[in-house]
Amino acid sequence: MAELDIYQFPCLSDNFGVLIHDPVNNLTASIDAPETAAVKKALSDKGWQLTHILTTHYHADHTDGNLDLKSEFNCTIVGPNAEGDKVPGIDVRVADGDSYQFGAFEAKVFDTPGHTAGHISYWLPEAEVAFVGDTLFALGCGRLFEGDAQTMWSSLSKLRALPASTQVYCGHEYTLSNAEFALTIEPGNTALQNRVEEIRQLRNADKPTLPTTIGLECETNPFLRPQSPEIQERLGMQGKSDAEIFGEIRQRKDNA
Ligand code: ZN
Ligand code: FE
Repeated sequence: MAELDIYQFPCLSDNFGVLIHDPVNNLTASIDAPETAAVKKALSDKGWQLTHILTTHYHADHTDGNLDLKSEFNCTIVGPNAEGDKVPGIDVRVADGDSYQFGAFEAKVFDTPGHTAGHISYWLPEAEVAFVGDTLFALGCGRLFEGDAQTMWSSLSKLRALPASTQVYCGHEYTLSNAEFALTIEPGNTALQNRVEEIRQLRNADKPTLPTTIGLECETNPFLRPQSPEIQERLGMQGKSDAEIFGEIRQRKDNA
């Protein structure tokens, strides 16, 4: 099986940049482009030439580098069809069910609206990796700027259905504050307790807590766990729908 090289680096105040590199075809994509200088430094650190940008959503902290990088590298910008007009320099518009061939790797596209109305995620099954932008975070999920709880729950359900071993790269390092909140929602979850301990150690050592995996999120992320009896009982929401319970958790986090 072909191998995909992945390089994650922090940028802006709490964003992650990610480069993916297909060594056989000598292609390199930036997952979003939060900041031109940081992406260029990462490229030169790795000795890679930028050929693609894979955009998850139009927000400035994910697209600010698009035009500068495109003029310097003449890279192809792939992005969400539903908000393509807001993605600077977009060349290829993709939507749910589409595949984009990145060298040896097929990137399957999911519409994952909620944070923005046109947000998409990319899943590369051969590499067992997903790039989810600001839809899913480690122990959290994106804010609902352009969608309701039902919309976001449907998006998260698509990601939750990916293989448990899937490595998940997210747009931000929000994990520590997410962890503190998660403990208020499901304090009796021992997998969560253990994970929070690891997260505190990583952050104390100034290390990233990403990537995560679908399996770990399913076990510990309260936003993916409306079926947990402990959560339902704490919220007093036994018998409510998954989307309703998810919505309540999202609202509590917004007010936390
Ligand atoms: Zn965003
Ligand atoms: Fe963001």
